[in-house]
Amino acid sequence: MRPIEKKQHGEVVQYTDSRGNVIEHVVQADYDKYGEAKLPLVGNIGRYCSYCEGLREVDALEVEHCAARRNGGSETAWNNFLLSCKVCNMVKSVSDFGEDIHWPHLNNTYLDFVYDETGRVKVNPVLSGLSATRARNLYNLVRLGRDDQDASPMDYRWRRRYETWKKAVDAKAKYEAGKWSVDDILSKAKDTGHWSVWFTVFAGIDAILSRLISDFSGTCASCFDADNHYQPIPRNPENTDDPICFFLVTNNNFCLQKIKI
Ligand SMILES: [Zn+2]
Repeated sequence: MRPIEKKQHGEVVQYTDSRGNVIEHVVQADYDKYGEAKLPLVGNIGRYCSYCEGLREVDALEVEHCAARRNGGSETAWNNFLLSCKVCNMVKSVSDFGEDIHWPHLNNTYLDFVYDETGRVKVNPVLSGLSATRARNLYNLVRLGRDDQDASPMDYRWRRRYETWKKAVDAKAKYEAGKWSVDDILSKAKDTGHWSVWFTVFAGIDAILSRLISDFSGTCASCFDADNHYQPIPRNPENTDDPICFFLVTNNNFCLQKIKI
């Protein structure tokens, strides 16, 4: 799951309104209505679901409350907002995990899950202790494990992720054959979404990884080590909860697993 860097209140985000005007917006600590934060969130982190990472039209995105309102989460505080597609928001449970959960704007959630060629997502099997618990709670919260076997017809997430994997593999072949440029790859990735799938498929190709981090608005750049092939690194070094991992790059360069060192 792409780790994101939310703007803090008082910082400026730029977004395009429904009339096509570019708006400079100062992020507020609180909004009168939470819907008013949607376009600023889009300006900050792009038109991507914070959980399944799919690209959506603005109308198909919802302002999502991390801590559910019925569990006492703030309805209007910017700090409690993410963007969600309708499916992730619908299936999201209202379980109150308190602090026993990771969030993409607070932790390096790229360390939490592994993505594979079947389109499925699994909790990173090398996690243990608190990290494993918190990653699994996030996984269960939005039912990231649903696949073709158990998703309802309305739950398009697995299928779209699976299709994205195939697109990313095809794009990589074209890139390695010299047919596609870095810009071509980024254009395709941004038009498809599922950032973690692209980042996984292109593991080992620094030129693409750096652009996936820089070109997807709001990606947490400090979550990846630019001096070491963009290995994911703990977001909260003072908090040992975030594990230290590195990529396992196989012969075909797919990152199948992240291993604790
Ligand atoms: Zn989603």
